[in-house]
Amino acid sequence: MVDMDKIVSLCKRRGFIFQSSEIYGGLGSAWDYGPLGVEFKNNVKRLWWRDNVHLRDDMVGLDAAITMHPKVWEASGHVAGFSDPFTGCGACGRHYRADQIFDAIWNSRWFRALNKMLEGPAAKKDEWRAIWNWADSEAKKLAPNFLAARSPNMPTNMEVTGFPFEGAEDGRYKRFLANLASVGAKGNRTMDVLCPNCGAAQMSEPRPASLMLETFLGPVRETAIKTYLRPETAQGTFVNFDNVLQASRKKLPFGIAQMGKSFRNEITPGNFTFRTREFEQMEIEFFVMPGTDEEWHQRWIDERFAWYQKYGIRQENIRLREHEKDELAFYAKRCVDVEYLFPMGWSELEGIANRADYDLKQHSQYSGKALEYFDEENKQKLIPYVIEPAAGADRSTLAFLVDAYHEEEVKGEKRVVLRFHPEIAPTKIAVLPLLKKYDRIVETAKRLTADLRKRWFTVYDDTASIGRLYRRQDEVGTPYCVTVDVQTVGDEKAPADDQVTIRDRDTMQQVRVALSSLETVMAKLMEGEWTEVYRDHGVSKE
Ligand code: ATP
Repeated sequence: MVDMDKIVSLCKRRGFIFQSSEIYGGLGSAWDYGPLGVEFKNNVKRLWWRDNVHLRDDMVGLDAAITMHPKVWEASGHVAGFSDPFTGCGACGRHYRADQIFDAIWNSRWFRALNKMLEGPAAKKDEWRAIWNWADSEAKKLAPNFLAARSPNMPTNMEVTGFPFEGAEDGRYKRFLANLASVGAKGNRTMDVLCPNCGAAQMSEPRPASLMLETFLGPVRETAIKTYLRPETAQGTFVNFDNVLQASRKKLPFGIAQMGKSFRNEITPGNFTFRTREFEQMEIEFFVMPGTDEEWHQRWIDERFAWYQKYGIRQENIRLREHEKDELAFYAKRCVDVEYLFPMGWSELEGIANRADYDLKQHSQYSGKALEYFDEENKQKLIPYVIEPAAGADRSTLAFLVDAYHEEEVKGEKRVVLRFHPEIAPTKIAVLPLLKKYDRIVETAKRLTADLRKRWFTVYDDTASIGRLYRRQDEVGTPYCVTVDVQTVGDEKAPADDQVTIRDRDTMQQVRVALSSLETVMAKLMEGEWTEVYRDHGVSKE
């Protein structure tokens, strides 16, 4: 599995994603999508919309406002209950989600360094001494408040805690932490865990923190309306249920899809674009007859799980996780998460919940407007149940990126390649002139670029040698390069053959095709038919 640092650095270098306000020191909770990133994320959103709205009879779209009437958030339960438990470090003041503190420790710089050290030769020889040496050197920088890094009496304390510890991978380190914490805690329960930032054993008892981001509408603060930036797009859909129903004349079952920005004052944003305070969601509210909800829920779970794999996520990196009863919101009948194996471990990509009739009932009650459906068959009014597949555009984009990342050795050199599905790839085709000083080659390549662009996002690049240009395109996941050379345009020795070379990113194989059939061949390639095209037109490998 690729390291997140590698992904972050590739994203910055090649213009996928930049840190927000970087020239002012940056903001850890927001990210900007650069020239390739915006194309890439737009592709993810476009495919989600196409597959879930345009290709279905039972779905329509909506784009509701970000700021809504404050009562919406009372009715939905967000004002009273949309919070996460947090814990703060008494030594360095950092805050963390209490329910994710162990993950944060696991992924902290000091814990990763400790792990690496424990796998090294020094620890194999004498684990106990290696830990002590580590605490006395690297830990002083990475975790300055780590008890072992501060206490000169550590060897004695360690003996007391029963080192060296035994057990399998995870258990071993957990016990190590627990032992250290108990040394620091001196029996005090509040010091059970260590700070992921500084290593101190002074984390506070968990308390709830609201995730709602307040905002004020109007020029004068005293009279302004206090509301919130929406924490999800779903409520815009529920309050428009009747509008959409009347306008579209849809019959149950049918769904309303929305994509757009949401905001949450997350306690610990992090892991790149995985958790931010401003992010984009892709949410479906699918309304069904009560009694058919369980079947529809399962259908959506299966569909959404398949969707990620259709666009390239490898089977071994994606799974479904059923929510435990005590995890479920009080109104939810069942919830299943689609999880992806991100570099920091299995984490939620999308949540698919059966929300029963909770939302429509709440808004009917708070607004005084009945949000109901008239069942013509049984001549009765009812409140539909809702199935909600709620995905994140940024998290999906990150998962597609991580999954596509490959490093391999080609002719003794490292090749970084993003194996994007052609529909997801930000750039579909790169047209490369073999010689940039040869006017006819450049003219033909530029004309070709302009033609291909009408159908696929195509770039022209002549700023390096052909080998370098190929590597650059590999690194940003461009599925096909088209090279124009002397044979294409002809010279005094030979007439033009009017053919170009297409090179496949993944196999690095090449085919030679006539300019006149380029568009037809490209259309086949975009459908993933390289093998067939190679059989008909293949030439030697790069
Ligand atoms: P988590 O448990 O990770 O906080 P959640 O269960 O609160 O997520 P939902 O309310 O189900 O998330 O939101 C639906 C989707 O929106 C998530 O699956 C995720 O893809 C995306 N999402 C939610 N919060 C964030 C965030 N802070 N940053 C980026 N994407 C997010």
